Amino acid sequence: MLDDRLEGAPRKKALVEVRGLKMYFPIHTGLLRRKTGDIKAVDDVTFDIVEGETLGLVGESGCGKSTCGRAVLRLYEVTDGSVRVDGHEIAHLGPNTLRRMRPTMQMVFQDPQASLNPRMTLASIIGEPLREHTRLTKPEQLERVYELMDQVGLNRDFANRYPHEFSGGQRQRIGIARALALNPKFIVCDEPIAALDVSIQAQVVNLLEELQDRLGLTYLFISHDLSMVRHIADRVAVMYLGKIVELASRDDLYGDPKHPYTRALLSAVPEPDPREESRIQRIVLQGDVPSPANPPTGCNFCTRCPDVMDICRKVDPEYREIAPGHFTACHLYCETTTMPAEPTAAKEAFEPIQQGE
Ligand code: SF4
Repeated sequence: MLDDRLEGAPRKKALVEVRGLKMYFPIHTGLLRRKTGDIKAVDDVTFDIVEGETLGLVGESGCGKSTCGRAVLRLYEVTDGSVRVDGHEIAHLGPNTLRRMRPTMQMVFQDPQASLNPRMTLASIIGEPLREHTRLTKPEQLERVYELMDQVGLNRDFANRYPHEFSGGQRQRIGIARALALNPKFIVCDEPIAALDVSIQAQVVNLLEELQDRLGLTYLFISHDLSMVRHIADRVAVMYLGKIVELASRDDLYGDPKHPYTRALLSAVPEPDPREESRIQRIVLQGDVPSPANPPTGCNFCTRCPDVMDICRKVDPEYREIAPGHFTACHLYCETTTMPAEPTAAKEAFEPIQQGE
């Protein structure tokens, strides 16, 4: 049933298959700390990542994208759903089997300063996964560390230095080298450039792209920077309040966004050309993002959507394919609901934004 939602998705082999993933955190209140609800950080998320591609995952802070990335790597005990990586179901694996899967999937963290142990030298940080997961001798480990330092552009002479002696960009290179140590196939990059100076961001993104070409890596690239995601991603998924509201190829999503939330996000991206900038019609969303502990009835976006209809406040729209490889969850594109706006009328309503792009 869940697979029906992916009909028309890319036909190449999917390295990562996520179906109906839920990550709820219980809320306990009162003296007896009784469970009174759940924070639905990730709520019924379904997507594939094809071998060698980069799937961008975008959305506002707190929308659940980082939790989703961590749940996909089983850094959390998932509430429900299925996650297959390289053909292995990992969502409910026991600790020993999961440990054997760890080399296949790795993570690059947002804050390299916080993710590197300040008491360890660069060589011991990069070599840690080798000590944990391989039987390499010490000289072999050091040789592999040097090889990884070469791959990410770090001078071998720095092997005995400590993290505080490096710049933010170099620290992120250390984090990438550590993630590559066990020859992974799949890497979740969780806001890998958000903590870096703008001048360094492009260098790190270029390095990730080079490594992908050379090593055939598959990325889930989590970011709130829509311009950077447009540069690096092959396909893009947009998240709002724990759900994916739109997923499409990069060109389709940026050229012809369907979901009102995606349109609003894209209308806020700065345009370097002043003539284009003056033609863009900004969509300013009213109100705050609702709490994931108490999402609205019906569509999650109904409290802020400029195109909201009566049905939106009652029925959660189905996440469905509206064009080959283009998925969205919105009643504007749902034939079975009594929607006042025809798809063409909806398109016209968005015309000013399209002109500005
Ligand atoms: Fe807006 Fe309704 Fe579509 Fe939700 S379903 S995004 S409220 S039009």
